[in-house]
Amino acid sequence: MMNIDELKIELKSFFGEGEIKFDEPMRNHTSFKVGGPCDIMIIPNSKEKLIKALELIKKYNIPYFIMGKGSNLIVKDGGFRGVILKLTGLDYIIVKDNNIIAGGGASLSNTAREALLNSLKGMEFASGIPGTVGGAVAMNAGAYGGEIKDIIEWAECVNDNLELIKLTKEDLNLSYRHSRVQEENLVVVEACFNLDKGNYDEIKSNMEELNRRRIEKQPLNYPSAGSTFKRPTGYFAGKLIEDSGLKGYRYGGAMVSEKHAGFVINYENATAKDVLEVIKHVQDVVYEKFGVKLETEVKIIGED
Ligand SMILES: Cc1cc2nc3c(=O)[nH]c(=O)nc-3n(C[C@H](O)[C@H](O)[C@H](O)COP(=O)(O)OP(=O)(O)OC[C@H]3O[C@@H](n4cnc5c(N)ncnc54)[C@H](O)[C@@H]3O)c2cc1C
Repeated sequence: MMNIDELKIELKSFFGEGEIKFDEPMRNHTSFKVGGPCDIMIIPNSKEKLIKALELIKKYNIPYFIMGKGSNLIVKDGGFRGVILKLTGLDYIIVKDNNIIAGGGASLSNTAREALLNSLKGMEFASGIPGTVGGAVAMNAGAYGGEIKDIIEWAECVNDNLELIKLTKEDLNLSYRHSRVQEENLVVVEACFNLDKGNYDEIKSNMEELNRRRIEKQPLNYPSAGSTFKRPTGYFAGKLIEDSGLKGYRYGGAMVSEKHAGFVINYENATAKDVLEVIKHVQDVVYEKFGVKLETEVKIIGED
């Protein structure tokens, strides 16, 4: 019997219906709506169960990948051989004075909404980012001049030895779309944001204004993963792509958005291959024209 079959049997005795899925199509779990099946998906609803899952995965030496809402993720069409650990079961949000403590799988926008309801300011920038708290910490997500680095107090993570460790803002090494979480393959299970007391109406109108700007500028009616590329030093990816004449460039069902050239969108039943072809073409043309290498912000996993 293969290791993965033995793992499946052992997992079934720990995880109930709804917490574990087999041959699960990843297109149902990515905002791009692309991706073939993963062998196993586990959605643990407690830290203990998450650690148990990791223990078993390591025991059988099976590859794994941690995900939140898949809003910055492309899974290739052949899917993922191994286990996808989806953290969205850890979705609690607790408000304590000026702090918000949220599970790694809590929705970032729900967390920002909770801040609003408690008249806590500083998290408005995050209200339109469609990921989880863990994904946002891993990516140091940011928008409209704010980033996770500005508000995070600490994050509790599981390390490679399966220990729970608490990392402060400084420990987390946060920089543009980067963190120690990515460097060391940590799993963020909980984070604490430190906010300031503010005025409910002002926070609300600030959030509404930022979301209005998003709706106006971004192709939110098509599946995507937001900005496909990181901002290259000294440039804007969208402007370079637009100036390369690539707005509307299409391959299969994937396209460079006409509304915002920094977004590759799933225009019509795109496969992951279509999306990756568009990304490659954009990188090649922008490099040819401007000598700038565009790096993807989006994470790419799986097999063709
Ligand atoms: C319409 C749209 C708009 C967007 N706007 C913005 C924006 O303004 N600013 C911005 O920064 N991003 C934006 N994004 C991208 C995305 O929402 C963020 O990167 C978000 O933080 C990803 O969170 P996630 O839970 O979806 O992570 P996933 O896509 O599931 O994973 C992304 C990465 O984070 C890691 N990860 C996820 N959860 C954990 C965890 N608990 N522990 C450790 N690692 C983890 C994964 O391994 C992977 O490497 C946008 C996306 C879309 C679709």
